[in-house]
Parts: sequence; structure tokens; C-alpha cells
Amino acid sequence: MTHTPAYAAQAADQPLAPHTIERRAPGAHDVAIDILYCGVCHSDLHTARNEWGNTRYPSVPGHEIVGTVTAVGKDVKGFKAGDTVGVGCLVDSCQHCPSCAEGEEQYCENGFTGTYNGPAQEDGGNTHGGYSANIVVNEKFVLRVGHEDNLAAVAPLLCAGITTYSPLRHWGAGPGKKVGIVGLGGLGHMGVKLAHAMGAHVVLFTTSPGKVADGKRLGADEVVISKDPEQMAKHANSFDFILNTVAASHNLDAFLTLLKRDGTMCLVGAPEHPHPSPTVFNLIMKRRQIAGSLIGGIRETQEMLDFCAEHGIVSDIETIAMRDINKAYERMLKSDVKYRFVIDMQTLKDEAKAA
Ligand code: NAP
Ligand code: ZN
Repeated sequence: MTHTPAYAAQAADQPLAPHTIERRAPGAHDVAIDILYCGVCHSDLHTARNEWGNTRYPSVPGHEIVGTVTAVGKDVKGFKAGDTVGVGCLVDSCQHCPSCAEGEEQYCENGFTGTYNGPAQEDGGNTHGGYSANIVVNEKFVLRVGHEDNLAAVAPLLCAGITTYSPLRHWGAGPGKKVGIVGLGGLGHMGVKLAHAMGAHVVLFTTSPGKVADGKRLGADEVVISKDPEQMAKHANSFDFILNTVAASHNLDAFLTLLKRDGTMCLVGAPEHPHPSPTVFNLIMKRRQIAGSLIGGIRETQEMLDFCAEHGIVSDIETIAMRDINKAYERMLKSDVKYRFVIDMQTLKDEAKAA
């Protein structure tokens, strides 16, 4: 076991603060990773504040991890000390159910282990995520990372990237398809970049008039202010697919009516409070569908990382010090993120050394 500096929430109404966790010694199949950068996902905030009602404390969030391998177990073949690697939202799954067999570990029928707030093997407590100096992960859940010159901006691909890539691929975003992305935050800005790179006609829906120019720069062909019914009405019955990344409860009908016959709106945003129920007639009159999607499996995450390397795609980030995490959460709640906060983990290591 190693004493590892981290930042944790001790309760739903407490800010994140310095905390020491124990990391297991690497087992035969484990990779020990010194964490360089960790992205800040809205799920971290939902979890730290127990907005989904399932948080185990102390809670160390963070599942957009990039770092350097420091040691590997004796049976690890795929990685060696010095490699640059990533860890996303998953660190384990049963490996034998039908979903795992198909490489969809996020849908593991026996329950996957989340990078944080999952069950920990070593001490029966909960797993601790990337707001920490290092992590130990089974090699099956470790990803290869390129873009060595811009690692901080790669970190958000590990959650925001795969969570948007997977449904865009599943519902066939590409040339000839009209694809909507709802919300220009961490997930949404990756959705815009990825759907554009896949060749779709991309329409961004935002509630923030100040994000219109950025939306176009990031790859949207059109930007619609979703609070303006006139702008919305122009797009009625026209979308093949809409990816909804909004982190708060809102009116889904406003977007459902924009789908054409047989179109799908996939929800990836996971708000604390449920959405008002959509009008059933908006579904049945055009055989429209509402769907959901959870991150992506390890194979597809590697595919996404390779796709991003090939297309020169990284996240647009604002780097922060670990001690500024609570301020970052407040800005995230005001939709004031351009477009992902990433923690420089050296700031945590320096703070721990000085203490
Ligand atoms: P984020 O950076 O905070 O972005 C969310 C965006 O939603 C905001 O920037 C804002 O965009 C829009 N928005 C916020 N409040 C709104 C409201 N009341 N009405 C309409 N639009 C609103 O969050 P994120 O990290 O991208 O995460 C988004 C959601 O996805 C979270 O709930 C998170 O937990 C969830 N998530 C799900 C998965 C999954 O596997 N399904 C994975 C990761 C995260 P505009 O300013 O452009 O309107
Ligand atoms: Zn996330």
C-alpha cells in the first residue's frame, strides 16, 4: 500500500479538501501510474455532492486520467515503465458476461467497477479516482495515449470523448446525416468536434448566446439558441439524430419535435432531477425514439483515442490547480467552462510536499 495525496469530499455538503488515500501495491496484472492530468467531469460534481444518491464517502472523483507508467506487475505484457497512458471511467468488470465478451464492459451484467465510487477489491471500501497523485489499474483498463505534446488536452477524451463518440458511432453519424448536439459544455464540445470529423452536418443547440462563435469554430455548421422558439421551429422534423448532453432537467419535447420520422434523441446528460415527461404524441406520430448511452467500452475508447490522434482532435481546456477545484465546480454550474477544466496534478504533488 502507498500513501497517496488526493482531494476528497467527506460529505455531500462539504467542499473538496486534501485527503490521503491508500493505493494497493501493483498485482501481477496491474499498472501503476503517476497521474499528470485529470479532467473535471460534471459527473464528478454530481458524485461529490451525492446528487445521484449513491455516493460513498470519502469520495475522490476524477475519471479523465493521463499519466506515466511507473511500474508494472510481472504478468503485464502491454505496458512498461515510462509509457504514457490513460484511464477513463472503468477500472474493472466481470470479463465473462455477454456484454464484457462483446467489449461493452460499461454494460457489464455483473456490474462494472467505476474508477471512483465503485467497490474496491483491496479493502472493501470504494474506489478513488484521478484527483490524486497516482493510481493502480488492471492493464485491461489502461489505454494508450498519443499527442504527447498536449497531454492535458487529451485527458478529457477519456470520458467526454468516449461518451460522445460511442453514441455518434452507434447511431451512424456521418456524411448525409443531420446531427444535433445539445449543450456546449465538456461533453457537448467534444460531440461537436467528433460529429464534424465524422462528416455529419452538425447543429449545436446552446442556451448561451455567448457560445455561438465558439460553436462554429469547434465545427458546428449551424448554431441554434434553444431558448428561441423561432430559431427552433426552423429545424422541425429534420434531424436524423440528436445527442443531448445537458446536465440539468429540461423540456425534452422542444428537441423531440425536431427529429424526423424514425429519428433518435440519445440522452447522455444525467441530471439530479428527472426531466418532465415528454409528450407521447411527439414520439408515436413519427416513430421517434428516446435512447440513452453510457460512456463506452475499452476497445471503443482506444478506437476513439486513435481516431482523435488521426484527426488532430483534443479538448479545449482551461488548466487549473488542484486547490481551485471548488471554484471550478461553481463555474461549471453556471455553464462557464471553456470547455473542460483539467487539473495539473503537479500542483497537488507540490501542495502535499509543502504540507
Ligand atoms: P458541463 O460541462 O457542465 O456541460 C453541460 C452543458 O449543458 C452546459 O455547458 C450548458 O450548455 C448546458 N446546460 C446546463 N444547464 C442547462 C439547463 N438548465 N438547460 C439547458 N442547458 C443547460 O457538463 P458535462 O461534463 O459535459 O456533463 C454533462 C452531463 O453528462 C452531466 O449530467 C454528466 O454527469 C453526464 N455524463 C454522462 C455520461 C454518460 O456516460 N452518459 C458520461 C459523462 C458525463 P450551454 O451553455 O451550451 O447551454
Ligand atoms: Zn465523466
